[in-house]
Formats: sequence, structure tokens, C-alpha cells
Amino acid sequence: MSDSGTVVVRMAPSPTGKLHIGTARTALFNYLYAKQNGGKFILRIDDTDKERSTKEFEQNILDDLTWLGFSWDEFYRQSERTDIYLDHLKKMIDSGHAYVSKEEVKEEGDRAEVIRLKNPNKKIAFDDLIRGQVEFDTTELGDIVIAKSLEEPLYHLTSVIDDALMGITHVIRGEDHISNTPRQILIQEAIGASRPIYAHLPLILASDRSKLSKRKHGESVALSYYREQGILPQSIINYLALLGWNPGTDQEVFTLDELIKTFDMKRVHKGGAIFDEKKLAWVNRKHYNLSKVK
Ligand code: GLU
Repeated sequence: MSDSGTVVVRMAPSPTGKLHIGTARTALFNYLYAKQNGGKFILRIDDTDKERSTKEFEQNILDDLTWLGFSWDEFYRQSERTDIYLDHLKKMIDSGHAYVSKEEVKEEGDRAEVIRLKNPNKKIAFDDLIRGQVEFDTTELGDIVIAKSLEEPLYHLTSVIDDALMGITHVIRGEDHISNTPRQILIQEAIGASRPIYAHLPLILASDRSKLSKRKHGESVALSYYREQGILPQSIINYLALLGWNPGTDQEVFTLDELIKTFDMKRVHKGGAIFDEKKLAWVNRKHYNLSKVK
């Protein structure tokens, strides 16, 4: 909880592609958790990767999240917060928690500088709301690169600083981030930030149980693919909720308000959830019929 006891969650998409259905599901679970706890839902654009982030992708993400019916209490763009990260980096270097490292750049035979966290090489354990106790030995991680230069901080650092400054109480995100968590806990400890509660959601898989990826599955991983097919936003919300969660009853058709009441993080399972277009079409027919009744 934050100092005031309020739940504060964040959705932190990187605008390096169109809104992925996995990211939309993460947004939904964060939103449901915030709403059912009377908490705050923050949208933060993680655009520190200057080469891959674009305004067009950011717009697509904002449009799709709005179309789905989400609204956010606060909005940030990491590219506008460089001074904050610079300040922390300097402090970390001054206190000996981080250092500038001169390194060979292989291709050019040149020397470049990066900033690394001084790894205390320790065991880290954290409680995950979905996965229970998770343990890591950080010795294997070496001294993590946290910035390319003082003005170019990288994801782990910016994410930890922002989560701390924004008072994030619960980090709810995909399981693909679980190996990032020990790195981020080391950074939290270095800057004296408190640890949020973690919940790592199961991956969304294709029917052959492979991870849904743009490289392998093309445009069908983007939410706009379904939007353009005429699937209703309430159908997508409903179907996404069933990817990794079930109510423990026979009910399968839910409105967003019903989900806010029924969703329970304790019922989110660990195993991957298979994305089934036929089931989505079935859910869509149900919502289409409901919309005609009204
Ligand atoms: N920018 C990261 C992503 O899009 C966010 C990860 C996180 O939630 O910390 O996957």
C-alpha cells in the first residue's frame, strides 16, 4: 500500500509496436485490481528506447486503450523525465552503488562508456501474488548496465525510479518480466526505494503453445487486428479476462462492471493461457446479442 493505504498500479507499455494483446490483458488486470480496491491506475509510456519508440505506436496504444474503455488517473512519458533519472544516476555514482565503466565496442574497436550497478551478489526472495515465493541468486547477473550514459538511462533504472516516485504499490505484469524483478529489486535497494508487491501474469500462448510473438504470428498479436475485424471492445475485454483467470463458476460472459466485482487475483493461474480466436468469436456473438437487447 502507499502511505495513504491506496492501491496504485501502472501500465507501462513501450511504444515499439502496436498494442499487443498481452499488453492489453496486463492493462485489464491492472485496471480491475485498481478499480476493485478504489485505487489509482497510472499510464506510463516507457519510451527510453529512442531507436525503436515512435509517436505512431504511442498513438495506436492510446487509441486502443481508450477504445477498450480504460481511463487513467495519471499519465507520464519517460522521455520527458530524463532530468529525474540523471539526478538519481549521479547520486548512485557518488554513493558507490553504480560506476562508469569503459568498455570495448566490438565492431568499431572503440571504447565506449556505460553505467553499471555494483551488484552486491546476494540471494533475493520475493512474494509473488500468483507464483508464491520466488528466489534468485543475483551473482549470475554480474554488474547490470543501467544506463548507456548519464543522459541515456535504460529500462530497469527508469522503471524502478518511476515506480518509487509514482508510489506504485503493485507491479502487475507479464511473466516474461519475472527475470527482470531481481535486477529491479537490486536497483530499488541501491536507491533506498520500498519494494512493491509483484504479480506476474501467465503468458498468452498460440494454439501450438508457443509464445505469441509478432515475428511468428504477425499482425494477429496486435489488438487493432481484432478491432478492424469488427470485434466489440466489450467482447475483447471479456475474452482477455478469461486468459489466465476464471471465476470458479460457469459464468463466461461478463461486462467490465461485472469483472470489476468478480475478478480475483488469487484465482489467476500460473500456467500459460491459450488464445483461441474461435472462443473470442463466441464471446463476441454473446455481447453482440446483448447489445441488441438493450
Ligand atoms: N515497458 C515494459 C513492457 O512494455 C514494461 C514492463 C513493466 O511492466 O515493468 O513490457
